[in-house]
Amino acid sequence: MPESYDLLIIGGGVSGFSAAMYAGRLKMKMLVIAAVRGGTIITTNDIANWPGIKQTDGTTLAKNIEEHALEYGSVKALDDKVVEAEKAGEGFRLKTEGGKEFEGRTLLFATGTEWRKLKVEGEEKYSGNGVHYCALCDGYAYKDKVVGVVGGSDSAAKEAVLLTQWAKKVYIIYRREEIHPEPVNMTRVKNKIEEDKIEVISNANVTEIKGGERSMTHAVLDREYNGSKELELDGLFVEIGHIPNSELAKGIGVETDEKGYIIINRASETNVEGAYAAGDVSNTGFKQAITGASEGVHAAYSAYEYLKGKEVRPA
Ligand SMILES: Cc1cc2nc3c(=O)[nH]c(=O)nc-3n(C[C@H](O)[C@H](O)[C@H](O)COP(=O)(O)OP(=O)(O)OC[C@H]3O[C@@H](n4cnc5c(N)ncnc54)[C@H](O)[C@@H]3O)c2cc1C
Repeated sequence: MPESYDLLIIGGGVSGFSAAMYAGRLKMKMLVIAAVRGGTIITTNDIANWPGIKQTDGTTLAKNIEEHALEYGSVKALDDKVVEAEKAGEGFRLKTEGGKEFEGRTLLFATGTEWRKLKVEGEEKYSGNGVHYCALCDGYAYKDKVVGVVGGSDSAAKEAVLLTQWAKKVYIIYRREEIHPEPVNMTRVKNKIEEDKIEVISNANVTEIKGGERSMTHAVLDREYNGSKELELDGLFVEIGHIPNSELAKGIGVETDEKGYIIINRASETNVEGAYAAGDVSNTGFKQAITGASEGVHAAYSAYEYLKGKEVRPA
């Protein structure tokens, strides 16, 4: 017989462990299954928008939330990847890569997202050898080198500023006219432009990544910059958004929007009874640690109310 829980949570990021912390307070017997503990937040070393903590890094924040959740005796965590989800009676059954099976009376998808790829020639070939998706993880290898960051979002700007710690020059390559980070990060970028550490190449797309046997040497652009379409780079960091990890949810009939994000209401309920979603995988507009934590807490409380047989109405 598979182990049985009140609540199964797929995902060990901020949203999953915040839900677990709350479910623990409600004394629900529950299990968090995480392919990578900590999730996306551990890829940044600069968090300045978590209430009550003026400045921290992602790994510390994730670790604190996890430790807080695991303090409750009814919360367990497992490092494994869920490969199958199905409905089983009134609840759900999960199978993992490690060959384990679990049953849950309720189920929370806190599965986050994956980095969107450029899908250009050379990207796969040089992945890990020039092409990267996380500056904090791989940026240190580019001391005194020249690197590019593709994207114009707040995350892209943060990645570019972080890379100036190591790289002697960082090109931000953005397909539109103006990058659009939050004001505080825009100021940081502008300061680095003044120091000649960052240069923005706007209205440009990377169409190919070229190089030798082992590592990349150039990004090919769709327009000339300083007289050439080939930009000499030692590394390229791709920060062009994310793809939701919602395939398992879709498999049990959970509805998603046209981009694949799980549709939830303000109680973090999906259209499937007993199934919830929270954080970056959900279709809520603002994707931050604090909003994911809030959705996780809503999900835990909704699952609790559902198990008590009460109706939970969207606020
Ligand atoms: C560079 C960068 C900087 C950022 N800076 C900030 C910031 O300063 N402040 C802020 O609030 N937010 C910031 N964010 C956003 C923030 O990181 C995310 O909103 C938040 O971490 C999302 O948490 P999550 O738990 O919803 O998803 P994730 O953190 O992505 O967690 C998903 C979890 O699900 C697991 N998983 C997925 N599929 C499976 C499966 N099949 N089986 C088992 N486990 C699975 C993953 O391993 C992971 O544990 C930043 C993001 C980036 C990329």
